Order: sequence, then C-alpha cells, then structure tokens
Amino acid sequence: MGVDGPGPDYCKHCMAARRTHEKCDGCDEPAILPENMAAAELYIATRTQWRRGDKGQLRGMDYAGVLAAMQLRGVKKRKRAALFEQLQALEQATVEAQQELLERHDDSD
Ligand SMILES: [Zn+2]
Repeated sequence: MGVDGPGPDYCKHCMAARRTHEKCDGCDEPAILPENMAAAELYIATRTQWRRGDKGQLRGMDYAGVLAAMQLRGVKKRKRAALFEQLQALEQATVEAQQELLERHDDSD
C-alpha cells in the first residue's frame, strides 16, 4: 500500500523514494487516471451541452458549447485539440452505452 491516496498525484512520493517515474502496483490507482482528468472534468462541465433526438436520446454534444466551456475554463489553445479528442471518445462511449440500454429495453417489451 502506497503512501499517496488515489488522485492525480498517486504514487508520487513512492516514485520519488524509488527514484523512478514508473508507478508501482502497490499504490491505489485513481478511478480516473491523471492523463484523463482534464477530459473528465470537461465532460462533467459540458453535461448540459448534449443534443438530443426527438425521444430525448443523446445524439452528441454541441461542439460550440464545448468550445465555449473550454474557453471559459481557461484551457490553453494548444491543449484544446487533444482535450477535444478525449472528450469525443467519452461522447462516443456515452452514446453507444445509451444505445445499448435502449435496445435492451426494446427487447424486453
Ligand atoms: Zn507507488
């Protein structure tokens, strides 16, 4: 068990003590990895920016709203493209997960 709790800096002290940048297996890995934290925060911040179909199903995000959110949150221009790509992965996964749920619901009728 490592000394650092789960979070963006997990295993930090442990790595310093071991003089390495390799994370160990003993520290609690956060549910959201540090490299995905900014995208996860943006995903939550843009939860009102979904476009919906006529039955309320999620279709995708309003990218103008996403861009506005990035600007308002002070995301640097050079970081926006990569962050947007990560957000799109989350968007895609969300739409697919909802699609699966809806299909399962249709089958049970
Ligand atoms: Zn560690």
